[in-house]
Amino acid sequence: MVANGVPAVRFEDVSRLFGDVRAVDRVSFDVADGEFFSMLGPSGSGKTTCLRLIAGFEQPSSGHVQVHGINVEGVPPYERDVNTVFQDYALFPHMSVGENVEYGLMIRKVPKPERKKRAEEMLDLVKLSGLYARKPSQLSGGQRQRVALARALINHPRVLLLDEPLGALDLKLRESMQAELKSIQRQIGITFVYVTHDQGEALAMSDRLAVFNHGRIEQIGSPAEVYDHPKSVFVAGFVGQTNLIERELALRFGGTAGTYAIRPERIRIEPLTAPLSPGLAAVEGRIGGITYLGSTSRVLVAVDGGEIVVVETNLEGGTAMPDRQPGTPVRLVVDRKHIQSVAA
Ligand code: ATP
Repeated sequence: MVANGVPAVRFEDVSRLFGDVRAVDRVSFDVADGEFFSMLGPSGSGKTTCLRLIAGFEQPSSGHVQVHGINVEGVPPYERDVNTVFQDYALFPHMSVGENVEYGLMIRKVPKPERKKRAEEMLDLVKLSGLYARKPSQLSGGQRQRVALARALINHPRVLLLDEPLGALDLKLRESMQAELKSIQRQIGITFVYVTHDQGEALAMSDRLAVFNHGRIEQIGSPAEVYDHPKSVFVAGFVGQTNLIERELALRFGGTAGTYAIRPERIRIEPLTAPLSPGLAAVEGRIGGITYLGSTSRVLVAVDGGEIVVVETNLEGGTAMPDRQPGTPVRLVVDRKHIQSVAA
């Protein structure tokens, strides 16, 4: 995925300070050519500032930003081979959809027939064929987002930067647009750098993701690496649900003192009478309560010692069975490979 070994984007020890705020604090990472790379983190963690550093709307206070192997300090945004899609779309309301899409070509003085042809190709790509003459006000939110995408892609940038582009859409539309964005990215094969605070979105779309916290990257990896092997308490809690196991329970689950993360869906609930298989960690407790969630149920189990462990499981037959009532003694069983040691 790295053309000639040169990453599409490289951050080398980059910081960006605003007064005393370290918005980006000594961040280093590479984005491979053609990769779908997400920057995930809570509000204020520095991801948008990183995106703006790539776009050229911000300059680093220290360190270096490279795009395709070239240091871009001092290179203005329009001379970088990147383009940005913003959450608020930033469409021109007085122009038609087609004119919005071909705007970048107009600036570059591409003749009208050629512009129109390319705008129509882009509208096909984002599944808006036939809407060339409409005004943005006559489109739905999802359609406007596609126009913004088509407009950003028409200049064939090698890197597309996307800042929470689906943030304004409702959940169903967001999920279908996630799949579409991913498929468009595969089809055109360019690098996407995607900012989001939505962990589900980052897991669903990315080849790799970086988890930001307080201007720093806590972890970079594939969705499965980050989800299954979170390195810190922060990552374990921010990316998905988790049980943080400490103190006495850590000794029983993990074997040694420390802090461990165990995903609720990795834990099985068994009756005390079931034979215990070797290689599994087990603790005993009592059912505290069950919340039926549809495809799964969330079971709270009070383990001996008083701590609560959350288990997510598919309870066929619902919550009514006698062995699922509050107070029922149970055994919690988990494969040791799903007990992840995490740094505080
Ligand atoms: P969000 O998801 O809310 O956009 P973010 O993770 O993208 O958050 P940034 O927008 O990068 O975070 O902001 C990181 C920090 O830098 C925040 O504390 C923010 O207030 C601060 N910051 C960003 N831009 C500026 C600026 N132009 N002037 C002063 N402080 C800024």
